[in-house]
Amino acid sequence: MTAKIDLHCHSTISDGKFTPQELVAHAAKSGVKVLALTDHDDVSGLQAAREAAVEHGIHFVNGVEISAMWKKRTLHIVGLKIDAENTALKTALDKVRIGRDERAQEMSAGLAKVGIHGAYEGAQEIAKKSILTRSHFAQFLVQSGHVKDVKSVFKKFLVKGKPGFVDHQWMNLEQAVELIVGAGGSAVIAHPGRYDLGRINMLLLMHEFRRYGGTAIEVVTGSHTPPQFQQFAKIAHQFSLKCSIGSDYHGPGLSYMAMGSVPELPAGCVPVWDDWPEKQYLN
Ligand SMILES: [Zn+2]
Ligand SMILES: [Zn+2]
Repeated sequence: MTAKIDLHCHSTISDGKFTPQELVAHAAKSGVKVLALTDHDDVSGLQAAREAAVEHGIHFVNGVEISAMWKKRTLHIVGLKIDAENTALKTALDKVRIGRDERAQEMSAGLAKVGIHGAYEGAQEIAKKSILTRSHFAQFLVQSGHVKDVKSVFKKFLVKGKPGFVDHQWMNLEQAVELIVGAGGSAVIAHPGRYDLGRINMLLLMHEFRRYGGTAIEVVTGSHTPPQFQQFAKIAHQFSLKCSIGSDYHGPGLSYMAMGSVPELPAGCVPVWDDWPEKQYLN
C-alpha cells in the first residue's frame, strides 16, 4: 500500500522543478490527499500552494526544511504545521538566505584573488534556480578546468585555509527546533539515514533532538532503503519519537521516490499526524 500523505517536497521556491501550484496539481493527480510543501529555508511558496490545494481538493499542511548544524555536520530539520507569518521564523530564514548568498559572493572573491574569475556566476549557472552551495562551486571549478575532479577541488580550494573557503555559522540544531516549535509547528529530523553519523552519534542526536522539543523523525523517505524504514521505526520507538513520511520530491527524474508511490509507515509507528484533523482524510 502506498501512503496518501506526503510531508516533504520541494518547489521552485528552493530547488524543485515545479512551481508550488504545479506541485500541488501533480500531488493531487498522484493520489496524495494530505501534502506539506517543505522548501529549503523559505516559506514564501506556502500561500500559493495552499490556494492550489483548495482547487485540487487536497489538504495542505505548512512546511519548511531548515538547515542546521550539529557536530560540524549540516542536518535538515523539517517544520510541519508552522505559522508562516511567525516573525521570529521569517526573520531567521531571511538571515539564512542572505548569509548563504553573502558567503557565495565571498567565496567567489577569494577565488578571484588566485586568478579564478566568474565563480559566482558560474556556480549560479550550474545551480540554476536552486540555492547556491559549495558543491556548485566545486562543479564550476571542475567544468572550467581548474581541477580534475570534485574530490580534489575541495582539498585545493574549498576547505579551511584555501582561497575559496569562507566559514559560515548556520543556526544550530537547538535553534532550529526552537524556531519551529515557537512558530507552533512540529520539528522532524529529515532523512536521518543520510547523515552517516555512526550508531553512537545517531543515538545522541535523537536524545538531544527530543530534549530540545523535537517531535518526529522521517522513517519513510526517498533517501532511505526499505531496511532503513525498519531501522528508523525502531529508533523512533526507542526514543518515543513520532514517525513521518516524505518523498523529498524535487521534480520528474530528480528524486528517489515519485509522488504517490511512497510506502506507508511500518507497523507500530506512531505517525506525526496522529493528533491532526487531517488524519480523517487518510482512511
Ligand atoms: Zn533534505
Ligand atoms: Zn528536502
